[in-house]
Amino acid sequence: MEEHAGRSCQSCGMPMQSEADFGTEADGTRSNDYCTYCYQNGAFTDPGITIDAMAEKGGAIFAQMYDIPPEKAREFCKEQLSSLKRWSGREVPSCGSCGMPLAQDEDAGTEADGSRSAHYCIHCYRDGAFTEPGLTKDGAVEKYAPMMAAHLEMPLERAREMVGYYLSTLPRWQE
Ligand SMILES: [Zn+2]
Ligand SMILES: [Zn+2]
Repeated sequence: MEEHAGRSCQSCGMPMQSEADFGTEADGTRSNDYCTYCYQNGAFTDPGITIDAMAEKGGAIFAQMYDIPPEKAREFCKEQLSSLKRWSGREVPSCGSCGMPLAQDEDAGTEADGSRSAHYCIHCYRDGAFTEPGLTKDGAVEKYAPMMAAHLEMPLERAREMVGYYLSTLPRWQE
């Protein structure tokens, strides 16, 4: 597994999977937080953009790509953006199995010794083990896609694509 597996841009939320996806710092080194579209040479490419404008842009892409009503797509985008460092002032980690933001302590799963997991949520991981250890990525798509389809009023087939792509960016499902 590469060290940056599961890393998403903390400005727009895009998963950064290859070296070319990462932005650059003023000294030319790689930014660990932001993607190449949002951040270059140590500065945001669009420094004045608001979270609403960002959700508007991202929502339009989602709406078109996955057949989601534009209003729903925008809301969803804003929800996702609000857990990112650029917009919330801190980086909210997300579950490496289902992607749920670990916003509160209670959202985190538990290790065998009872301490909180820094990587997985309470639904996916308890007492140091996955709650559904046999779950495959395809199984997870079947499990989450209907919820996503209902939540975003989108066709189930599109929801499967969206969830499948999203899961493939999370640490648990890395090949
Ligand atoms: Zn970005
Ligand atoms: Zn989870």
